[in-house]
Amino acid sequence: MSEARGPAGRADVEAKAKELDAGDQLAAKRAEFVLDDGVYLDGNSLGALPVHVEARVVDVISRQWGSLRIRSWAESGWWTAPERIGDRVAPLIGAAPGQVVVSDSTSVNVFKALVAAVRMIRDEGGAGAAARDEIVVDATTFPTDGYIAESAARLTNCRIVPADPADVPGLLGPRTAVVLLNHADYRAGRLHDLPGLTAAVHAAGALVVWDLCHTAGALPVGLDEHGVDLAVGCTYKYLNGGPGSPAFLYVRRGLQDRFDTPLPGWNSHVEPFGMRPGYEPAADITRGRVGTPDILSLLALDAALDVWEGVSMTAVRAKSLALTDFFLECVEAYVPAGHVESITPVAHAERGSQVALRCPDAEGVMKRLVQQGVVGDFRPPDLLRFGFTPLYLTFADAERAARVLGRTLAEASTGS
Ligand SMILES: *Cc1c(COP(=O)(O)O)cnc(C)c1O
Repeated sequence: MSEARGPAGRADVEAKAKELDAGDQLAAKRAEFVLDDGVYLDGNSLGALPVHVEARVVDVISRQWGSLRIRSWAESGWWTAPERIGDRVAPLIGAAPGQVVVSDSTSVNVFKALVAAVRMIRDEGGAGAAARDEIVVDATTFPTDGYIAESAARLTNCRIVPADPADVPGLLGPRTAVVLLNHADYRAGRLHDLPGLTAAVHAAGALVVWDLCHTAGALPVGLDEHGVDLAVGCTYKYLNGGPGSPAFLYVRRGLQDRFDTPLPGWNSHVEPFGMRPGYEPAADITRGRVGTPDILSLLALDAALDVWEGVSMTAVRAKSLALTDFFLECVEAYVPAGHVESITPVAHAERGSQVALRCPDAEGVMKRLVQQGVVGDFRPPDLLRFGFTPLYLTFADAERAARVLGRTLAEASTGS
């Protein structure tokens, strides 16, 4: 089968890629990452390594741990690192300082946020507070959020109300305690209306928890601006913190003195070294912590965050949309008609930073793409998922990925 637009199509999109790369204000950022000559479209699963992180981690191991040893808790700032690094993540998600702590995994933070939210809404007292017994959960969610929500519901005697995010406003009422939503869906990459849904949840007198795993570092979030109550998110996806780097938890300042954590570890105590038998929570965001921080991962993330210096999230968003638009254009130019179907929303307001293509034998196709250096991922049952990280991808990368995809599918259909 021939290419959809033939050789002229290829010349057109290659010329356009050159032009777009020449006008890319973030182009210099690519050199700050360790990449090879393939095309890495999996930064929404594991962000690439920033070049300088390795030396920083070696210093943490050899000097801070190796020679300073226990003195590093104070002298190297280990003890306060969760809040200090939280303050570095904060501007990337539209939060003023003092509201973000980096600690534990996203799964654990979903648990803390949901249980604390139910407790807070019931502690408010007032008419009907005790009757709030529903946790509305994004039914399209990444599975871990749903599993954790089930357990949080059992522990708080709540019932789970599964919902497509678009249907949430119609499901809210006097029994709603908390709503857990994904800012962007991990499969289709659909971006949900954070300002509008947050306002709807508040109008129903409930609290909202946003999962920002697929938007933190990919687009402006505006947590403070939109009055979000609680938020969680990964740091190893678009924030490039490294495999398993600790997640973040945002607690709006106005809720912090009521944040009633279900995991009151000693790190969240007002006086952790008082070793007191009774628990008394710290007054600030510190109460979002649990136990001893994972210093090596945390400080790798700290170093990785340096790449954001001088970067505006508005510019990141503009490039992300331009990249995904251009990739879809190239797919149309290269992929023989009828082989793939994009389920990524066309409207920019509904698009995250990835493209998902439905394709028969997506698993086998992705294997062949990876063999040719184009690394995306497969999500069952039939999705090819391509993440676009604006800090290190070029328009030439998008063109090449689509070209290799088109060739791979054409070969498969001719049986060669
Ligand atoms: C990636 C992702 C997670 C991962 O959670 P971990 O606890 O880090 O394994 C959770 N939720 C969503 C929506 C994700 O995309």
